[in-house]
Amino acid sequence: MRKEILIRVTVAVLGVAGLWLAWSQNPPAPLTMQKVSDNVYVIIGDGGNVAFMPTSEGVILVDDKFAQDAPEILARVKSVSDKPIRYVLNTHQHPDHTGGNQAMLAANAEIVIQKNARANMVAGKQPGLPHITFSEEAQVFLGGKEVLARYLGRGHTNGDAVIYFPSERVLHTGDLFVTSGAPFIDGSAGGSIKEWDKTIEKALQYDFDVVIPGHGAVARKADLVKWVANHGYHPDARPASLRRRRRGCRQAHRSEGPRHGRRGDV
Ligand SMILES: [Zn+2]
Repeated sequence: MRKEILIRVTVAVLGVAGLWLAWSQNPPAPLTMQKVSDNVYVIIGDGGNVAFMPTSEGVILVDDKFAQDAPEILARVKSVSDKPIRYVLNTHQHPDHTGGNQAMLAANAEIVIQKNARANMVAGKQPGLPHITFSEEAQVFLGGKEVLARYLGRGHTNGDAVIYFPSERVLHTGDLFVTSGAPFIDGSAGGSIKEWDKTIEKALQYDFDVVIPGHGAVARKADLVKWVANHGYHPDARPASLRRRRRGCRQAHRSEGPRHGRRGDV
């Protein structure tokens, strides 16, 4: 019995050491920030793309990467605004988008997430549970500005929200759209490749110029239209060669590595 415990502890220690070694040999790239409209900034690097909008009454933040990134996110926001972060809108529950939630709650921000995504967080025993959920849509009004979070159906998960900044003509899609590769679907969190097609088509109905993907470089609406045409799921209308390519895209994503979403992000 004691031997078994010793072996388990040894395995655990080696596991942690291995993780540390992997991290120290391959530390995350430093975060970069860019202004994408008059009032919206994006922070790219290590985890999902963060967006934020400063207002006269406080800052509205979209997603907060991993826990380790929270101090730098706070510093980047502070370099633009002396107001506190008042609201965080999570696009979905994956830890590379919600890892900083605990730090944001500690800084007195309120976090808003689609109710299925919060349930996924509870099921995954994730820290930093948001206090506020919505089914279809949530609007945040602050300092004369408006931001809305909208659930458009299943896709990457069963709880993805797109975040729309009407005055800025900017849409943050979360992981419904990535410019770092093909669409990927987390079946374990209720994602659906078939539903994704309809969901992303609805996202295109918004009036926007700039689109912030969940991962990868900021794009224009035309880039999203092209990406959807390349990757859309139209089984009856597509020749077999394209359907094969589509499967290939999904398989490529499966081997993308554990940084995104940690668990089964396919
Ligand atoms: Zn994700």
